[in-house]
Amino acid sequence: MSTFTHPHNQVPDLAGYNLFASDPVLRTAVLRGGAAWREPELLRQGAEYGSDAMLRTAEDAEHYQPELQTHSASGERIDFVKFHPAWHEAMRVARHNGMTNLPYADSRPSAWVGYGATLYMHSQIEPGSTCPSTMTKASIPVLQRNPALLDALWVKLVDTRHDPRDMPVAQKHSMTLGMGMTEKQGGSDVRTNITHAARIGSGPWGEEYEISGHKWFFSAPMCDAHLVLAKSDDRGASCFYVPRWRPDGTKNPIHIQRLKDKVGNRSNSSSEVEFHGAWGVLLGEEGRGIPTIIEMATFTRLDNVLSSAGFIRRAFAQALHYAGNRQAFGRVLADQPAMAELLGDMALETQAATLMAFELANRFGSPAPLDQAWRRFVTPMAKFWVCKRAVAISAEAMEVFGGNGYVETGPMGRLFREAPVNSIWEGSGNVMCLDVLRAVSRNPGDAQLVLDYLADVAAGEPAVLSKIRALRETLLRPGADLERQARRITQQLALCVQAALMLQHASPAAAAAFISSRFDPDWGVVVGVSAGTQDIPALLAETWVETRAQYHD
Ligand SMILES: Cc1cc2nc3c(=O)[nH]c(=O)nc-3n(C[C@H](O)[C@H](O)[C@H](O)COP(=O)(O)OP(=O)(O)OC[C@H]3O[C@@H](n4cnc5c(N)ncnc54)[C@H](O)[C@@H]3O)c2cc1C
Repeated sequence: MSTFTHPHNQVPDLAGYNLFASDPVLRTAVLRGGAAWREPELLRQGAEYGSDAMLRTAEDAEHYQPELQTHSASGERIDFVKFHPAWHEAMRVARHNGMTNLPYADSRPSAWVGYGATLYMHSQIEPGSTCPSTMTKASIPVLQRNPALLDALWVKLVDTRHDPRDMPVAQKHSMTLGMGMTEKQGGSDVRTNITHAARIGSGPWGEEYEISGHKWFFSAPMCDAHLVLAKSDDRGASCFYVPRWRPDGTKNPIHIQRLKDKVGNRSNSSSEVEFHGAWGVLLGEEGRGIPTIIEMATFTRLDNVLSSAGFIRRAFAQALHYAGNRQAFGRVLADQPAMAELLGDMALETQAATLMAFELANRFGSPAPLDQAWRRFVTPMAKFWVCKRAVAISAEAMEVFGGNGYVETGPMGRLFREAPVNSIWEGSGNVMCLDVLRAVSRNPGDAQLVLDYLADVAAGEPAVLSKIRALRETLLRPGADLERQARRITQQLALCVQAALMLQHASPAAAAAFISSRFDPDWGVVVGVSAGTQDIPALLAETWVETRAQYHD
């Protein structure tokens, strides 16, 4: 064998590992959230997600992109999106593992954490299929506003079989749902929506309408239905259930204009559509469509946080694996101080993001006032922060691979291209920061409760306490105009939340390293700039457990 074509010092793929067993931070979050009952299943899923077969499925689903077929051979509109079988396999796994319904199909509050663990692992391997899965799950609380409709759909929502057939929902085992808000003239400001809904009568599920207009981003158009925002005559924006097929068995006129040519998230199809008198039924109160659909967004934003925490985890795992198996200047990269410092900092970021995501998921399952305050106040903050950090960390992890990171043969390009999407959709960065401020002005009591809680936890940490004190003064000052400071305030709040969670749940050394770096005025320009005090091997051991030998046994 030629030494030119088979050189040494190339790193084998990170494959055949267990995403759950190798992640002590995730495992303890699941136990803390009361989801020990889900552990055996999560161990099975962890092995499934890290298997060679699943990694290949993810690669194929991304490589062989969806294709739009607007018309049949005889010229009829079919508006069909054709996928590679790997996409259907990813959707099958997502559905089977509970991603479309677990917190509603299982009434235990800890089902939120159990669900979060699956989403966090699935996102690391095939994030495209999380889009229709998470939208299906997030539609359920909105559908609950129309009990007759929910009743008719319930068995399809809780069925765990993926059913890709393009036919009326009534004839299928299961269904998926998407969401249509964004129009050409505005996505953040959906008050500018012009899509129109004209009332045509009432039926067994309530008030029926015909919808005309368009959506500029309409992901997963092959979903069996979408929740769509449209303006009904004089009453403003309302929310409608708009299926692919009308109840009479004919095709609903939702014309797919084209599929978006996206930077990442390529396995998932995102489209532009026109509604030509599409049939829909009202959900919630007429004219209250924005708050109705924003409720769905609160749930999808939690999922963005879980998913981006998963991206950070995958970036860290890949970087650790690569640096641990590659040599430069005669030594293993991971053992060299500058690289060790970078890996240590990535481990801190991984721990903090994971703790934040699972704390939030845990609190989604509880009606207690403090938990509801977290849900309203911390969700947009975490969505901003964890999604932004995933962009930075995936770029750093790519660089740990050197040139081998910047090619499409390997997972790093995919991770890098995927990372920004969670930051953009479901409310882009600035909009999330403005939402944090809005949450404070609407419910100042929520901010008080969360800040009191953080101050209690950080009682022995002067740097964190002084930041909390300053934030309290700024946020709760009457009449303060804070928009220009929105990002700064949100970053500081997020770091205080993460510091408190590290103090509660990480090792004392990791919490100290997190606080001494993140609360140092020098911190924040690039990853890997910290106080240089952490015990790196201990930190890495707290964040990663080798499972590949275990998996192969
Ligand atoms: C891959 C992908 C899939 C998508 N799928 C869907 C889907 O299925 N359904 C759907 O409805 N939408 C979908 N979207 C659309 C997405 O939700 C919007 O792109 C997003 O909400 C931003 O809206 P916009 O693109 O109109 O940007 P704009 O609203 O024009 O915002 C542009 C920028 O301005 C900032 N900004 C906005 N308002 C303010 C303000 N007041 N102050 C300061 N800054 C501000 C935003 O943060 C953003 O950075 C998808 C997007 C992508 C990329």
